[in-house]
Amino acid sequence: MKYIFVSGGVISGIGKGIATASIALLLKSAGYKVAPLKMDPYLNVDAGTMNPLAHGETFVLDDGRETDQDLGHYERFLGESLNSTNIATQGSIYLSVIQKERNLEYDGDYVDIHNVTQEILERINEAGKSRNADIVLVEIGGTAGEYQNLLFLEANRLLKLKKHDDVIHIHVTYLPVPSFLGEMKSKPAQMSVKDLNSAGIQPDILLARSPLSIDAPRAKRLSFNTGIEPEDIIPAPDVNNIYEIPLLYESSNLTNRILEKLKLKRKNKDLKEWRKFVSQVESAKTKVKIGIVGKYFTSGAGVLVDSYISVIEALKHAAYSLGLKPEIDWIDSGKLLEDINQLKDYQGIIVPGGFGSRDIEGKIEAIKYCRENKIPYFGLCYGMQLAVVEYARNVLGLDGANTTEVDAKTRYPVIHIMSDQQKKLLEKDYGGTMRLGAWVCSLKENTLVRELYGTFGKLSAGKTTISERHRHRYEFNNEFMGKFLTNGLRIAGTSPDGKLVEIIELKNHPFFVGTQFHPELKSRPLEPHPLFLGFIKAAAKVQIGT
Ligand code: GLN
Repeated sequence: MKYIFVSGGVISGIGKGIATASIALLLKSAGYKVAPLKMDPYLNVDAGTMNPLAHGETFVLDDGRETDQDLGHYERFLGESLNSTNIATQGSIYLSVIQKERNLEYDGDYVDIHNVTQEILERINEAGKSRNADIVLVEIGGTAGEYQNLLFLEANRLLKLKKHDDVIHIHVTYLPVPSFLGEMKSKPAQMSVKDLNSAGIQPDILLARSPLSIDAPRAKRLSFNTGIEPEDIIPAPDVNNIYEIPLLYESSNLTNRILEKLKLKRKNKDLKEWRKFVSQVESAKTKVKIGIVGKYFTSGAGVLVDSYISVIEALKHAAYSLGLKPEIDWIDSGKLLEDINQLKDYQGIIVPGGFGSRDIEGKIEAIKYCRENKIPYFGLCYGMQLAVVEYARNVLGLDGANTTEVDAKTRYPVIHIMSDQQKKLLEKDYGGTMRLGAWVCSLKENTLVRELYGTFGKLSAGKTTISERHRHRYEFNNEFMGKFLTNGLRIAGTSPDGKLVEIIELKNHPFFVGTQFHPELKSRPLEPHPLFLGFIKAAAKVQIGT
């Protein structure tokens, strides 16, 4: 097995995850089986207990593991579903070491930091073995020079000492272009390489992130100071379209440089489909305008954080593959009640996942507006639950109907909590208590979603079940099922035993679909999600099936 470590330098947020995902795709396209592994420095055991405001989106895997958006990038670029072996937080590593110590697995030895680095190395091998990989691609979270990720770098150093020819290190660094100077500066990048050196790591390849492409004189200067060959300093300028990045790297010969260093031969060169998608992105002209109605997620500095990155990417995948250019606006549900008519400018509306009671009345109004004005509506998880609430209040006449998440005492709890989840909440056992990960859903005949999965999904003839990813505590309350059914709401998908409602839709509407799961988590550039395709088609008024 070969190993590639990827670290970041100078500042966070320079796109190390996308760089890693791009490298994974390039190595796959060269004919190798790749296992990506994100090593996160934080001490949370998983990302489920983290506030999306601080951390961005929680990305859920098939096996229910709650991770961060980098796993989303890996899946989208690789076009493969990953599992718990592809993520390790420092907290989960310490937890294993301490559990082993408690189980006397260290034979009475004292347990210290080297057991932690050993555990890290075990995780790396596990990631490779579980995918039968040729190459494990380890992304080290955090930035070079900080304490938090030192043990990951130490594991890298030890592995390199043991398997010199099988381990390389790629450093994603940053070269600023300060506006008062107007030129690119390489000093911070030199310093970040020095930081790695002091941890015993000499990077083999540098990805030079910058607003502009690094030029030859600067690459040469950086090379003098870091000992990295100029041809191993790869330009990585800002781009508008992240899916272009693998192609940029490929044109700078990155794949060949990596393979040469790992003493591997290129078996294949298969980027045809990817190129096709990227050119679709570039050539799309006709706009389709979509509004996402949600709480306005800004960090303290007023910056919009990536809380819904998978929803946005899923919209892009579907739109571009149909030759359309998505224009996606954020609509603040808090301000929607002041002027609901602002929705008339949109061809389709999404209410994405969410938690808690803030601003839900604005979302419910938006759903009502879409239902009444026949604007395509797609509700994702909370967006489905609130569509049920809206229907109960305004069509069934159940005044004050609600989800018990918002109003525990409502007379009409049309969305409620399952009893086993209720017990866990009372015990204050929050971590990992939701319905998480992939669950099978069986689709009903003669529904729009059945048609969409059949036309665009990979549903083989006669098959009526799909599998989608979940992350929620509340469910449709079956006590009200009869009332909904007799009043025009369709239950288009349920769990195979029929007990849990998975999909609702409306008849006589161009597209009104709500899913209890998160379809956005399974959408990929080369495999847009059938329901997102249906939604975008309806929004752009394109005939389904064409
Ligand atoms: N808050 C809702 C629940 O827990 C929906 C969650 C979500 O949208 N992911 O059931």
